[in-house]
Amino acid sequence: MKLLDGKATSLDIQNEIKVNVEELISAGHKKPHLAAIIVGDNPASRAYVGHKIKACAHVGFDSTLIELSSNIEEEQLIDEVNQLNHNKEIDGFIVQLPLPDHIDEQKILQAILPEKDVDGFHPVNAGKLSLGLPSFLPATPAGIVELLDRYNVETSGKHAVVLGRSSIVGTPMTLLLSRNAKRGNCTVTICHSKTQNLSDITRQADIVIAAIGRPHFVTADMIKPGAIVIDVGINRIDDPSKKSGTRLTGDVDFEAVSKIAGAITPVPGGVGPMTIAMLLKNTLKASLLK
Ligand code: NDP
Repeated sequence: MKLLDGKATSLDIQNEIKVNVEELISAGHKKPHLAAIIVGDNPASRAYVGHKIKACAHVGFDSTLIELSSNIEEEQLIDEVNQLNHNKEIDGFIVQLPLPDHIDEQKILQAILPEKDVDGFHPVNAGKLSLGLPSFLPATPAGIVELLDRYNVETSGKHAVVLGRSSIVGTPMTLLLSRNAKRGNCTVTICHSKTQNLSDITRQADIVIAAIGRPHFVTADMIKPGAIVIDVGINRIDDPSKKSGTRLTGDVDFEAVSKIAGAITPVPGGVGPMTIAMLLKNTLKASLLK
């Protein structure tokens, strides 16, 4: 079994970006600048945004964090988005999800200018992806493709089974794996909560991508020996052995599945850090498009 180390790979990519930034600055360009809006005080969201801001510092980007109260009205949040849209100093920005229930997430994401949408969630970028046109790719599925590439995992002609059909992970993942491109050309099956006989389907997979948000859902009996297993899930579960009383775990029963998989990502240290590396890549791209 090969461990697909997202943490080390992300660091490699960040170091490459750092060199790109140094070259840009020597050539007279300004530093790329990422902004992030966070609404409310969800501890997980705060941690994710904190990692993104820290990564900006590592690669030499400027960053701006805009922290807003969970009581903010939808219109006020749209005003904040518009300010970033028009701010020439900002190359790209994200609105950390989830947003409070009284705010329509789609309305906010659609207010972001597509050329500053470094999360790749705007319908223009999602549409371009589905048409195979250049766009900002959603960071998590793009990070998975990059990880497969860096570990030379062959995808052409393979059967990939994607568990989950969300617009930010599962659906774009199926598009990326099925397109006629390097680390694409898979035959893809997408599964969701209404899928029947799920284990029969996953057992046929050469590559399994688990993005459902249920701890240890994918068990060893669901996996064909030698399959590549990518665990996107981030779930917090009780663990009395930890000082905090909890720990993070994925959607895959890592201990059992790693014994039969050909390669597997850990949680933490797998897809999460790759997501950050791809966000930085998108921001660098946005700064060069101007
Ligand atoms: P969503 O909740 O938006 O989507 C979950 C998907 O899983 C849905 O399509 C749902 O089906 C499907 N699903 C739920 N239960 C089952 C089941 N029993 N069998 C088959 N399918 C099921 O989640 P996200 O896509 O946003 O995130 C998925 C996981 O990935 C979460 O743990 C999240 O924290 C993590 N994540 C990790 C990231 C990273 O950087 N590592 C980035 C983004 C997310 P249906 O559509 O029918 O409801």
